[in-house]
Amino acid sequence: MTERFTGNFTQQEPIPEEGIEAAVAVLRSGRLHRYNTAAGEVAEAALLEQEFAALTGAKYCLAVASGGYAMGCALRALQVRQGEPVLTNAFTLAPVPGAIAAVGAEPVFVETTEDLVIDFADLEAKALATGARLLMLSHMRGHLCDMDALMRLCDRLGVTVIEDCAHTMGAAWKGVASGRHGAVACYSMQTYKHVNSGEGGFLISDDADLMARAVLLSGSYMLYAKHAAAPPVEAFEAVRMVTPNVSGRMDNLRAAILRPQLKLLGERVARWEALYRTLEAGLQATPGLALVARAEGETFVGSSFQFRLPDWSPARIALFLQRCVARGVELKWFGAAEPVAFTSRYDHWRYAAAQILPQTDRILASLIDLRLPLTFTPGDCEVIARIIRAEALTVGQGPEPDAVDAPAIQ
Ligand SMILES: *Cc1c(COP(=O)(O)O)cnc(C)c1O
Repeated sequence: MTERFTGNFTQQEPIPEEGIEAAVAVLRSGRLHRYNTAAGEVAEAALLEQEFAALTGAKYCLAVASGGYAMGCALRALQVRQGEPVLTNAFTLAPVPGAIAAVGAEPVFVETTEDLVIDFADLEAKALATGARLLMLSHMRGHLCDMDALMRLCDRLGVTVIEDCAHTMGAAWKGVASGRHGAVACYSMQTYKHVNSGEGGFLISDDADLMARAVLLSGSYMLYAKHAAAPPVEAFEAVRMVTPNVSGRMDNLRAAILRPQLKLLGERVARWEALYRTLEAGLQATPGLALVARAEGETFVGSSFQFRLPDWSPARIALFLQRCVARGVELKWFGAAEPVAFTSRYDHWRYAAAQILPQTDRILASLIDLRLPLTFTPGDCEVIARIIRAEALTVGQGPEPDAVDAPAIQ
């Protein structure tokens, strides 16, 4: 009998009981707004920021409404100008170029390597060609480039780095937490990331001026002294009257849900690694299928898994996806002609100027992606690996199929 997988690729774990109880207490208090505190009370949102700053080792932390908001806020805090070029990875997700375009700047896409990280040679070439002073570095799907080399290059080029850590909360490069290399880092707490409050975002930085602007931008009015992980009040003096309010605050309800999850992050990272390594072991040495090398020095969070089917025709890949889906294994393909669910390509983002990146085109044409929610067990990953392996062999070694439509999975 053909083996089928019956797990759900979009089912997350429940919110920890401690978070549910804290959330109910906030609801009972009625004080959901972060600046609505009783005498002597420190808001859940302020405590959350303090705890995330401690977790990452950052001086300052600001919690906001979403990861996308955090990126826009970082760009504004760095005083991005209308029409200014902002470098970013061509292999990323729509909120990244979206955040750049939404502040009136111009995304400039940089090529991707086979290890799914930013291409340093192209980064240098594009920085010199455009004169860009900002890089929105997306650690897409949790793949970290050599962060020491990246920072040396950007320092030499005079490029300020904003890190998009939506997929690297809990990750590290040579023991330094992801998000602690650039001038500022942005995280997401949306349901499919590493802690879950439905929506939410963080900014962290050691730069007092930048973070004072970010706090004011987020909609602090003149209540910034109520923060517990913001710069000292003196840092606000020069900017308090000239920084526009672009409301995007975190609220106490979501902060209450998140705080107990921060304590679980380390344990979650270990569980994700077990899932990832099980899948990787099951797919090792599958003819026609290329695994993505993980760099030494990288502590990654295996919340998703990527592999490539190099030189497969689109029809062959579509047939492979169709057969995997029929056996319960939901795969996404970054090479599909049309955007499907969250998988879109840089050339689908038509609000950015048209750009041609042949190396990224070649890699995305063969790139397959799957989620690994923590509701899966290593045993589940063994089943998934067996199905992918079997179908890769059958389809990869079979005759060239007629054109097949890629399955439209949501
Ligand atoms: C999810 C995500 C973001 C931020 O998204 P929000 O949904 O706005 O929290 C940013 N970058 C990447 C790569 C993402 O996957």
